[in-house]
Amino acid sequence: YVAGLDKGKGLYFLFVKSETRTPGGLLARPVLTSYYKSDHFKTRPYDPYNVYTSPNEAILCPDSFQSMYTQMLCGLLDRHEVLRLGAVFASGLLRAIRFLQLNWRQLAHDMETGSLNSKITDPSLRECIVKTLKPNPELAQFVRHECSKDDWEGIIVRIWPNTKYLDVIVTGAMAQYIPTLDYYSGGLPLACTMYASSECYFGLNLNPMCKPSEVSYTIMPNMAYFEFLPHEPNLDSAGFDFTNELPPKLVDLVDVEVGKEYELVITTYAGLCRYRVGDILRVTGFHNSAPQFHFIRRKNVLLSIDSDKTDEAELQTAVENASHLLREHNASVVEYTSHADTKIIPGHYVVYWELLVKDSTNSPDNDTLEQCCLAMEESLNSVYRQGRVADNSIGPLEIRVVKNGTFEELMDYAISRGASINQYKVPRCVNFTPIMELLDSRVVSAHFSPALPHWSPERSQ
Ligand code: AMP
Repeated sequence: YVAGLDKGKGLYFLFVKSETRTPGGLLARPVLTSYYKSDHFKTRPYDPYNVYTSPNEAILCPDSFQSMYTQMLCGLLDRHEVLRLGAVFASGLLRAIRFLQLNWRQLAHDMETGSLNSKITDPSLRECIVKTLKPNPELAQFVRHECSKDDWEGIIVRIWPNTKYLDVIVTGAMAQYIPTLDYYSGGLPLACTMYASSECYFGLNLNPMCKPSEVSYTIMPNMAYFEFLPHEPNLDSAGFDFTNELPPKLVDLVDVEVGKEYELVITTYAGLCRYRVGDILRVTGFHNSAPQFHFIRRKNVLLSIDSDKTDEAELQTAVENASHLLREHNASVVEYTSHADTKIIPGHYVVYWELLVKDSTNSPDNDTLEQCCLAMEESLNSVYRQGRVADNSIGPLEIRVVKNGTFEELMDYAISRGASINQYKVPRCVNFTPIMELLDSRVVSAHFSPALPHWSPERSQ
């Protein structure tokens, strides 16, 4: 689809995550960590179409700062050879751009002097980079010149002028990042090549250069036994789930119908039996007899910044746990909703709270509300906390306290647009611009989590 990719390199930001053990003692890790640590990857034969700027030592370094720093440095050193930039998800590539914004001075210093930042302490990584790093004042000057400008529009093509496209997943929850990627890349094509999970590889995009909104993944029938649970989108959004009352028959791979939505169910070689992945897909067509799907969304996920997937129940528990701290102020949370704010990288969760304050002389102060932010973070799942602590892919959680009556206004707005008063439910996550504007115009104070929540690789929960 893209000519000449064998004439240069790919700048891919690839990372390993920490491993955990299951209570039964088995090793548990995300699929890509498993792949990068395998001999398939480490001793892959030379392939001119897949030459990366990042050395294996950088990809395999468990420290996310050292890994990102050296991958960026190598990408800058090879800037004229880079023909494509990528990461697994769009969020990862934007994190790399943010990293460059924060670290270009030190990177330029290393290029100028030919000496490596002392924060790179991993011995094999240091040894590998020091071998290739030579003083290059011209390149250092160029990086300083570009990065010190206030305007970063098109920075990707300014620094890597031969880039033909960006290789990142921008379907599903990642679609929120498309405008920012377009801004930094000057509108380069976006290629979404694969649809996969840690449990199973699902499918490929056979038309990788198509527009993000048109991406369909062709299921590879040999990867697992695929079945499909019919999904009625309208019933789900109204809050009724008839599928729980009378389980509909599972549909086989070859029997799905174009235009219909299904939930993916897999039986894998590794032993999962009729496992509900949680993804909702719509059939768009067939490649031979293999169906092709548009990824609609992940079921029940409210908030997602990176690989975190927070559902309604988790958010509810987090709000409950945090609101205990309001008791000493004789206050409580009357209503809440949330939003994944990705305007600034790393993105962060914003939770809007309307409070009931019984004693206005003792209303919750900034300290208490900051502690509420942290208490919410402590209650969220381990993937969220790993993103906060180890990967720096998620910023501190924010509580925005809104004026009394704001949620009633929200209901009035929904009813004015046709919602039924009987069945109105406060949306626990909002993305619709007029609603966001309404909420933001009623904010009385904003508070951020003052510290990192607890997370360690040993803790699986
Ligand atoms: P994980 O279990 O962390 O490996 O994540 C797998 C999940 O990520 C899938 O079940 C999807 O919800 C999501 N995902 C993976 N690939 C894609 C894609 N191409 N487009 C949208 N979502 C994806």
